[in-house]
Amino acid sequence: MMSYQDRVLTCRDCGRSFIFSREDQRRYIQKGYLEPKRCPACRQARRTDWVLGRGSYSPRGRQVFPAICAQCGKDTLLPFEPHRDQPIYCSECYRRRRATSG
Ligand SMILES: [Zn+2]
Ligand SMILES: [Zn+2]
Repeated sequence: MMSYQDRVLTCRDCGRSFIFSREDQRRYIQKGYLEPKRCPACRQARRTDWVLGRGSYSPRGRQVFPAICAQCGKDTLLPFEPHRDQPIYCSECYRRRRATSG
């Protein structure tokens, strides 16, 4: 029979120490998890980011930048960082503008 003790772990995100309590250890082992790598606050933050889609990475892992189309006002994602003095267009409006101006 294993005995559990409170352990102090270091969060790999913020570097702070946090308690991995006996109850938590038991729960983790029951679920087949390894020990946590992040403190509860960072875990919560990551989960919230994930749920809200606030991460700045696209599903394929490419970095994208959120912007608002100057033409139609729709939210769009750019594969490059937009310049402030340059109007941003969504792909639809961008194509339409090219077609009419060309
Ligand atoms: Zn942390
Ligand atoms: Zn647009």
